[in-house]
Amino acid sequence: MKFQNTKEFAKELDKQDELSSYRNEFCFPQVKGKNVIYFAGNSLGLHSKRAKKYVDEVMTDWENLAVEGHFYAEKPWWDYHERFANPLSKIVGALPSEVTVMNTLTVNLHLMMVTFYKPTSKRFKILCEAKAFPSDQYMIQSQVKFHGLNPEDAIVEIQRREGEHNIRLEDILAKIEEVGDELALVLIGGVNYYTGQVFDMKTITEAGHKAGAYVGWDLAHAAGNIKLNLHDWNIDFAAWCSYKYMNSGPGNASGCFIHEKHHTDTSLSRFAGWWGHNKERRFKMEPTFDPVRSAEGWQISNLPILSLAPYLASVEMFDEIGMDALINKRNTITSYLEFILQEISKEVNGSFEIITPSNQEERGCQLSVFLHGEGRSLFDYLMKNGVIIDWREPNVIRLAPVPLYCSFEDMYNFGQILKKGIVK
Ligand SMILES: *Cc1c(COP(=O)(O)O)cnc(C)c1O
Repeated sequence: MKFQNTKEFAKELDKQDELSSYRNEFCFPQVKGKNVIYFAGNSLGLHSKRAKKYVDEVMTDWENLAVEGHFYAEKPWWDYHERFANPLSKIVGALPSEVTVMNTLTVNLHLMMVTFYKPTSKRFKILCEAKAFPSDQYMIQSQVKFHGLNPEDAIVEIQRREGEHNIRLEDILAKIEEVGDELALVLIGGVNYYTGQVFDMKTITEAGHKAGAYVGWDLAHAAGNIKLNLHDWNIDFAAWCSYKYMNSGPGNASGCFIHEKHHTDTSLSRFAGWWGHNKERRFKMEPTFDPVRSAEGWQISNLPILSLAPYLASVEMFDEIGMDALINKRNTITSYLEFILQEISKEVNGSFEIITPSNQEERGCQLSVFLHGEGRSLFDYLMKNGVIIDWREPNVIRLAPVPLYCSFEDMYNFGQILKKGIVK
């Protein structure tokens, strides 16, 4: 499609957008009496009206039913989480039995490592990306130390090449081969939080397995953003937070994937709790743990229903739309934003550079922009003028034109504000 940097053209794209009505389902903060242009959905998704309705429902059931709500609420609490299996499995490309919701992201990754990181004197290394999200780095370091190992020996980081912003697939594969039979686990973010780069999870997982390792993925920036096929890619485990692209609300519950092939292997170690116990017998309060033969077997506690309520509303919305339609719009709106950035860059003599891959297969909806010369003052200007973005040291802003609620007109308007901020 040949794009134009005009308001009329942007409005025309909005008219043709099949998802445009969803924008009205979300609440936008206001600056100077106008809805903001919201680019921070990769950090915290917007509040949807459905989410509020679902939370209110639980509050009302609690008010009216108290403990009886576990069984007699309209959506009973004791198996509330089971409502996620179908819609969520479609979002991440899994079997319904392979996904569940529980805890928070870093906690789930720790729990997955209890199962899938079992270092031996020969096979003890973990492969991850250099400059991974800090929580992941702390998590991996602490797991290694927990096993009495030295992070410097056990953690292998894949570096970017000098002068390059993204990690090359060939370098990851070479590293996996090099570490070979010392490799215990590959654990990488499926979409890099800083650059927006999407990794080839299928190929990397295959290579990790060939080396004899388990392979898991942190999908914080992937779930609800890119097409996933966790089951077919034969991934061992994955976890994601729900408050970024999945709009479930601040700090909310995590989703977790465990491949079917592990469900019946009761020799795998895990930290157990009663909500992972055989459902038919859960309330018999037996002394011996008998895990559910599905992802639910990794659950520990009874679930925080007030947290799950807005997440469920969101998952149902994704299900209604379907990932294909969402990705379709994502590709167009992200390309349009890229075009607008390039146009404005020309007009102001190229003072910034997009460091996210330009190939649609290697990115989701985030564009990370390195500001040469411009910096914090431009960021402040944008924020003051109703553009919500985020700032990452040393000089990067991240823009996520989330297809569920961002409009093409937003992209055009953003370009105009950006230009003013640079030439002011
Ligand atoms: C957002 C994010 C997290 C956050 O973890 P929480 O446990 O939800 O606080 C972890 N890892 C990555 C890659 C992230 O992007």
